[in-house]
Amino acid sequence: MKTHIYPQEVANLHTHSHYCGHGNGEIAEYVDAARSAGLTLLGFSEHCPLPDDRYRSTRMAFADQARYEADVRAQDGYGEMTILLGYECDYHSVYHSYLNEVAERTDYLLGAVHFLNAAGEADDSLFYRPLVKRDLTRYADRYCAMLQSGLFLYGVHPDLFTYSYQVWDSEATAISRAIIECALSEGVGLEINGYGLQKLVVPTADGMTHSYPHARFWALAGEYPGLRVVSSSDAHTPGDVAYGIEETGALARASALERSSYRLSDRGIELYQAQ
Ligand SMILES: [Zn+2]
Ligand SMILES: [Zn+2]
Repeated sequence: MKTHIYPQEVANLHTHSHYCGHGNGEIAEYVDAARSAGLTLLGFSEHCPLPDDRYRSTRMAFADQARYEADVRAQDGYGEMTILLGYECDYHSVYHSYLNEVAERTDYLLGAVHFLNAAGEADDSLFYRPLVKRDLTRYADRYCAMLQSGLFLYGVHPDLFTYSYQVWDSEATAISRAIIECALSEGVGLEINGYGLQKLVVPTADGMTHSYPHARFWALAGEYPGLRVVSSSDAHTPGDVAYGIEETGALARASALERSSYRLSDRGIELYQAQ
């Protein structure tokens, strides 16, 4: 295979569909929309089902997994466009071997933290209640464990905790640095998430704004040379497949961040930093 470099402006690896139950649109409709938007690299990253159907309310049934994978693999990339198969996964170490199997038959995995609980505890979504200081430590611990698992190309929306912790204080700074330093030492990317730009506008210390992507988080990230940063639309509807490309790029520039490109070769998909 010839090595190909895709800058962020023509790529999106964070894409959902009707399969997860809270997105809509057929896989083929996303491919059409990506072509219209001028993307040349499109990756599908549905919320990964687990064998015990845990977190079923936010993802496809485990029984639908093969159908999703076949659907993505069947897409024709219209010549120039490359289409990849992936998943966005919540990580618990008890699912490590299962996720490793998924990684082996797909092109890449994205890591996420949507739940604060440990594997053996009741599900505790960070969307459904305000967070307090000690929750932030749990979030950072979960996020770093995900980054350290070695399974993921990049971590999605690392600043998602700001959705339910709407002040920016020393605790927010401390756990943000912990996450960024972990990503840096592991060589795993962090994602500026375009979907957050569509979410509710809330009062913050910086005025009325969406909670994530959070300018203060990314300003901190800009202090770490060598940190790998990407952006995505996190599309849940076909028309959003390239949503926020300009805005997330502008946020990166304002934060003194040079985003990585993607390099596709015989080794698979990797983050690539132009020198
Ligand atoms: Zn989703
Ligand atoms: Zn997502």
